Amino acid sequence: MSYKIDTLCVQSGYKPKTGESRIPPVVQSTTYVYEKTQDMADLFDLKSDGYFYTRLANPTVAAFEGKVAALEGGVAAIGCASGMSATTLAAFTVCGAGDNIVSSSAIYGGTFNLFAVTLPKLGIECRFFDVDAPAEEIEKLIDDKTKMIFAETVANPSIKVLDFGKIAGIAEKYGVLFFVDNTLATPALCRPFEFGANIVIHSSSKYLDGHAAALGGVIVDGGNFGFKGNPRYVSFNEPDESYHGLVYADLPAAPFANKCRAQLVRDMGAIMSPQNAFISFLGCDTLALRMERHSSNAAKVAKFLSESDKIDWVLHPSLENNKYHALARKYLPDGQGGMLSFGVKGNVKDAAKFMEALRLVTQETHVADTRSCVLHPASTTHRQLSKEELAAAGVPENLIRLSVGIENPDDIIEDLKQALQKI
Ligand SMILES: *Cc1c(COP(=O)(O)O)cnc(C)c1O
Repeated sequence: MSYKIDTLCVQSGYKPKTGESRIPPVVQSTTYVYEKTQDMADLFDLKSDGYFYTRLANPTVAAFEGKVAALEGGVAAIGCASGMSATTLAAFTVCGAGDNIVSSSAIYGGTFNLFAVTLPKLGIECRFFDVDAPAEEIEKLIDDKTKMIFAETVANPSIKVLDFGKIAGIAEKYGVLFFVDNTLATPALCRPFEFGANIVIHSSSKYLDGHAAALGGVIVDGGNFGFKGNPRYVSFNEPDESYHGLVYADLPAAPFANKCRAQLVRDMGAIMSPQNAFISFLGCDTLALRMERHSSNAAKVAKFLSESDKIDWVLHPSLENNKYHALARKYLPDGQGGMLSFGVKGNVKDAAKFMEALRLVTQETHVADTRSCVLHPASTTHRQLSKEELAAAGVPENLIRLSVGIENPDDIIEDLKQALQKI
C-alpha cells in the first residue's frame, strides 16, 4: 500500500511495537550494549542492522532519516548536523582532488562559497552554469572528471524554478549523478526523484523542522543510479581498503548512502544530534499542511504586492507574469512555497524605513519557518557591496526577501500595507 504524501508525513519513519512509546524516544546515548562479540562484529561488517556508536547511527536519527527517505521516495537517508554538512559529505562521497562539480549558479550563498572557494582549495573544481542556459551550453562543462551536477528545486534567494527535464537529460546522457537541493520546495510540493534526480539534499533547518528550532541536514539516496561498471565512478567499483574490501556498487541497495556513511560520516562526523532529529521528526508531521498554507499565503501576498503602487516588482512563481510560472505549474503544481522577493520603489533608505515599520513581520536571516520574516540584503548580508556590485550580483538595493509564514494572510497583508504607507 503506498500512501499519499500527507499520510507519509504523519505516519512514516517510526512504527512502535507493542508497549513502545508512540513517538520516537530521544536516545541520548553515545553507545549501545551487546552480549555476544559476533553480534557486534556483524554490525561492523554491515551484515546486520543495529547500533553501535551514535556517530554512525542512532535510533532517533534513524526515525527522522526513515521519514525523509519515505517522503522523498528514496531508498536511504543520512541525517547531518546542518544543510552545509549534508552537501559537504555528499560531495566528498563522489569527489576527490582532480574531480569537478558542474553546478547551477543560482544556489544558496553558503553552498556557492563551499563550491567556489573551499572545495577548490582541496583540488575539487566547480564549474557554474546559468540555470536558464540551454542544455547545449551546460553540456560543454562536463568532462570525464565531472562527478556531479548540482541545482536547487526553488533557488534561494533568487526563487528560480529548476527545469528538471533539461538537467536530468544531460545527467543521463553523460552518466553523471544529478544532485538536487530540495530545501525550499520540500517533498510536500516536489519529489525530485520522480523527475530524474539521483541524490536529494536538505537543509532541514528550514521547512522540514519548520519552527526555527533545530539545525540539521539530510542526504537522500534515490537508489536509481547505475554505479556498477560506470567508469566515472571507479571508487564505487573498487574494493574499499578502509572498509575491508567492500565494493559499494555491489551492494543490493543504496550504494551512495552506504559509501557516504561508511567512509565520510565515519571520518568526518558532522552527524545530526538525537535531540535535533527528534524536533525535526515532529516538524515533518505537519509538513504537508504547513506547505499548503505557506504556499497559499505567499500567493496572496504576492498578488497584493503586485497590485501596490509602492512596489517596483515582485517575484513569486504563482504570479502569471513570473518567468518560472510554466515550470512551476509542471513541477510544483500543488503550491510554490513561501519564499518571495520584491523591490520597493525608492532607494536603500526607503527599503530600511519599510522594514522598520513592520510590526508582525520580523527581520531575520532565517527563512522557511512558521513565522513571517524579512531580510534586506543590501543593508545586511550584502552591505559591503556598492550599488553597481549589488546590481551585478542580482541583488538590487531595493530588494527585500520575504519568507511568508502560516499566520492569517489578512494579518500579514495588513502589516505590509501599513509599513508601505510609511514610505
Ligand atoms: C539554509 C540552506 C542551506 C544550508 O543549510 P544549513 O542548515 O543552514 O547549514 C542549504 N541550501 C539551502 C537551499 C538553504 O536554504
